[in-house]
Order: sequence, then C-alpha cells, then structure tokens
Amino acid sequence: MLENIIEEILISEEMIQKRVKELGKQISRDYADKDPILISILKGGVYFLIDLTRAITIPHTIDFMVVSSYGDSRETSGIVRLVKDLKEDIRHRYVLIIEDIIDSGLTLDYLLKSLQAREPQSIEICTLLSKPSRRKVDLHVKYLGYEIPDKFVVGYGLDYQQYYRNLPFICVFKSDVSVISKQ
Ligand code: 5GP
Ligand code: MG
Ligand code: MG
Repeated sequence: MLENIIEEILISEEMIQKRVKELGKQISRDYADKDPILISILKGGVYFLIDLTRAITIPHTIDFMVVSSYGDSRETSGIVRLVKDLKEDIRHRYVLIIEDIIDSGLTLDYLLKSLQAREPQSIEICTLLSKPSRRKVDLHVKYLGYEIPDKFVVGYGLDYQQYYRNLPFICVFKSDVSVISKQ
C-alpha cells in the first residue's frame, strides 16, 4: 500500500496544478507573439511539460531531449551524455527548458551551454522544483514552481528507481522502501 511507503507529502496535487496554471499564464503573457519552443528532458520533465502546455494559451511547439548522466541515481556527476537530440532547429527561436527539478544544476548547466551554441534567440529555464541548498553552479531560473529542502522526492515525473513517476503529488518515501515488494 502507498500509505506504508510514503513518509511525507511535500506538495499536494492541488498545489501542483494551481502553480502549473499560474506558470502557464505567466509564460503566455511573457511569450505572446514569440512562438516559443518548450524543451523537455525525458523522462522526468514530461509530466510537468504536458500539464504546462495545456495551461499555455499562445502558439508554441514542444520537443524532447534525452540525456544520461554518469553516477548513481541520487547524485549527478555533471558529465552528461546526449542520448537523443532535438528534432527541431532552435536557431533564432525563443527556447524554454522545462525541467522537473534542479538539484546541483550541473545537468542544466551542461545543456544550456550546448544549446547556446545553436544560437537561439533566447533561452530560459522553467522548473517545477528547485533545491537551492544543493546548487553547485549558478543558474538563472526564470520560472520556478516551488523551492524544496534537500530531500529526495518522488512523484509527478520524479522516479524512485524508475517507478512511481505517475504519483500526482510530490512526496518523500520512507528510508527502507524496496520498489515492488512492499506495496
Ligand atoms: P542536477 O544535475 O540538477 O543535480 O540533477 C538533475 C536531475 O537529477 C533531475 O532532473 C532528476 O532526474 C535527478 N534528481 C535530482 N533530485 C532528485 C530528487 O529529489 N528526486 C528524484 N527522483 N530525482 C532527482
Ligand atoms: Mg530532469
Ligand atoms: Mg532519476
């Protein structure tokens, strides 16, 4: 049972959906007539992107990237490998990177540098969650859902050993959870 593995719900489904709608409005205002392209990094950012895109009322396109970072699942090494590139050309486009969470910031720092080289008109970050206390590089985040403490969170795209991305809220698991057997 889920109740047995969840320690704490940090952000409820209602809080997420409310914030996503606000961000959608803000982006629609800021990017009116700019035809932005929203780029999501698979897999975590996809749940956020799909809700956000429905809260945006101006024309825009979406695209996806897959990156893999070396190191274990809880720590990013900062060395990022591009597994799947964008389909669209971002030259002269207004780019918005849609992320689930910024932890150390190393993944995004690397991605920003590599996307800048393609000469977009502008490039900004929109992340649902941020753990500022964990930051290792300076990143300008234009749109932020919620700041959270230094805890490993699960749900709304964020996985626990690839599972539980579908939970509609952001939670912290108990420390002794094994993925399938304790459900
Ligand atoms: P960063 O490069 O900012 O350290 O890490 C970014 C990536 O690490 C996120 O996109 C996410 O995949 C993973 N990550 C960081 N913190 C968490 C967390 O609390 N929970 C989960 N499930 N993944 C996280
Ligand atoms: Mg991510
Ligand atoms: Mg992960």
